[in-house]
Amino acid sequence: MTDFPLGTILGYPRIGRRRELKRAVEAHWGGKIDESELRERAAELRRATRTRLVELGLDEPSAIPESFSFYDQVLDAALAVGALPARFADHREQDGSIGLAAEFAAARGDGENAPLEMTKWFDTNYHYLVPEIGPDTVFAAQPARYADLVAEAAADGVSTRPVVVGPVTLLALAKAADGAAAGFRPLDRLADLLPAYLEILSALRAAGAEWVQLDEPALVSETLEVSPAEVARAVAEAYAVLGAAEDRPQLLVAAPYGAPSVAGWGALVGTPVEAIALDLVRGGVPAAVDGVEEKTIVAGVVDARNIWRGDLDRAWALLEQTSGLKPARVTVGTSNSLQHVPHDVADEPDLDPRLKTWLAFADQKTGEVSVLARGLREGRTAVEHAFTEAAVALADRRSAPGVHDDRVRARTRALAPTDFERGAVEERVSAQRDALALPPLPTTTIGSFPQTGDIRRARAAHDRGELTTPAYEQVLRDEVERVIRLQEELGLDVLVHGEPERNDMVQYFAENLDGFAVTRNGWVQSYGSRATRPSILWGDVSRPAPITVRWATYAQSLTSKPVKGMLTGPVTILAWSFVRDDQPLGETARQVALALRDEIADLEQAGIGIIQVDEPALRELLPLYARARDAYLEWSVGSFRLATASARPATQIHTHLCYSEFGTVLEAISALDADVTSIEAARSRDELFEALAGYERGIGPGVWDIHSPRVPSAAEIGGRIDRAVAAVDVDRVWINPDCGLKTRQYEETVASLANLVAATGEAREAL
Ligand code: GLN
Ligand code: ZN
Repeated sequence: MTDFPLGTILGYPRIGRRRELKRAVEAHWGGKIDESELRERAAELRRATRTRLVELGLDEPSAIPESFSFYDQVLDAALAVGALPARFADHREQDGSIGLAAEFAAARGDGENAPLEMTKWFDTNYHYLVPEIGPDTVFAAQPARYADLVAEAAADGVSTRPVVVGPVTLLALAKAADGAAAGFRPLDRLADLLPAYLEILSALRAAGAEWVQLDEPALVSETLEVSPAEVARAVAEAYAVLGAAEDRPQLLVAAPYGAPSVAGWGALVGTPVEAIALDLVRGGVPAAVDGVEEKTIVAGVVDARNIWRGDLDRAWALLEQTSGLKPARVTVGTSNSLQHVPHDVADEPDLDPRLKTWLAFADQKTGEVSVLARGLREGRTAVEHAFTEAAVALADRRSAPGVHDDRVRARTRALAPTDFERGAVEERVSAQRDALALPPLPTTTIGSFPQTGDIRRARAAHDRGELTTPAYEQVLRDEVERVIRLQEELGLDVLVHGEPERNDMVQYFAENLDGFAVTRNGWVQSYGSRATRPSILWGDVSRPAPITVRWATYAQSLTSKPVKGMLTGPVTILAWSFVRDDQPLGETARQVALALRDEIADLEQAGIGIIQVDEPALRELLPLYARARDAYLEWSVGSFRLATASARPATQIHTHLCYSEFGTVLEAISALDADVTSIEAARSRDELFEALAGYERGIGPGVWDIHSPRVPSAAEIGGRIDRAVAAVDVDRVWINPDCGLKTRQYEETVASLANLVAATGEAREAL
């Protein structure tokens, strides 16, 4: 059996440098290419990836991870063990196997059956599909999903290392299938699941894999439904069984996204797995435990969660510290899969050349791994030049203008506790009542209206220089006017301008603030075929000029109804960008908050009486470790308050959060101190409304699920309004959809909003 390679990455972006996978998959869904062409294109993409990774220095056997997925790695693992929910049984192939048709049906629904639920993968912006496991789920291995890819690479002369979500994480992330008895937990099925993994391992061995990587991020999280102690016990059990198999490749178990729990680490080391990958960037080097002298430790010293060029000296120090554990062997890896970073800095012709020298995307990070691995092989002096270059780039970054802006620093330094405090709630409530004179159960929307093809085409033409700025802005103004007229006709109470000028709620602000850069090809997968292009927050943030004021005031000039100003909050701006790593997040958040605070002052000055500051990401940044929560809530909630606290008592501050797990962050939500909060609720169960009962500000539990094109009837909406009014003091209830309408069509938008207004009218009469 071969040693584990000296240098590896735990996974690589699979969407392709130009989102080739997205295009192929969507063409297939649209009926434009058949399955065999889709498979061919995917194979081409995998071949390109292998070639590239070899070029970048991953030339040892098993150094290249095979982390390809058509849709999602968790779905892949669930399907590879046969856990296709029964409602999709018709989509199986004729021989009963689970092919692409079943995979896409489970991922996207099939018209009749709802898809698997989707949720966030640990504390990243990637979303996975939640497996459904019940007491009766039949586990039956379908190893071809992975084994075929090993064979494909071998045919090209490359030995790859398949990457599979491990059995403990698969079950820990699964939810109980509908109909399971109360108290049933998917992890209860671990012993039944393991034979399927054994079969997969054996098939991978037969296909020629020397090593397999099993990802077990459940080891690092404290936010799962199963406790760290239970995860540790399950890991001990699972890897005792898998390790005991004779007919298997060697096993690398990876614990990305933080430090494994003490119990989990001890448990894993106690099993027969040959290698363990640790995220040393976030987790640090754990304490030595018995048995580690037999393991290879893949030291995750290259940070795969951000896009900054690494500090090789620091990485080297971590490698030395890892050697202190006296493992059998230390090798270099990334902290986690590179799936969360874009492909290649070299694909960014528009970025400032100086900024580019500070950056490392997936390819550059792979290069860092190769350099460090060579250092391990030949001694550090062999690669000293690379260390020097990295140190020079880092020093340049530290001293570059814009990275430190004295005026910005002086402002954050001078902040006093009172800058985070708004006036008394009662005073605000009465001032706003007088200023706004809204009816009971006021109706509003979350901000965006459908982004039509016309708007997108105009923006693209403007970006290409084919449409002049005045002409483009005329298109936008026309749209704003249309949206205002429409809302007036519908009879909504608080209007919005519709956000047609925004490509994306974060990128728009990034483009208008100093301290940010935006990329051309810096896509990262969000889920399935969807990718986002996070902005790069590299310097001190300030606002060179008002951003939204002219749109809000133009909209307000068209109507006598109040128009809401629309901003994205500091936490969400940070969460959906690549953020500088050279200072605490809190400092960066406060800088963004001050820029927004100035924007709010300008909006007020211009006569806007209601301002919404969206924070859909407030919960998603919540740390995986309980002990880090308080510090997070302090800076996140603090930055929202800093942004909004200077608003006059009569100015009504709204916020919007895109999820319904209100209970878990209730305290944080009240601490935001917004006057009105809208949340997702149309699909919620009773727990949400129980939690809402204790909430003391304005609250708009969404009454229209905007995630589907379905038009809810007035009666259906009325039922949701009744539920809200029954749970919450009627003076506090707002009526609004679950989220923005950007991805909807006008047809269903008009019909649904008309029903929303009609249902509200009826509810008012019943008051
Ligand atoms: N105001 C934004 C919109 O309506 C909010 C989007 C969001 O919550 N993700 O599009
Ligand atoms: Zn939302």
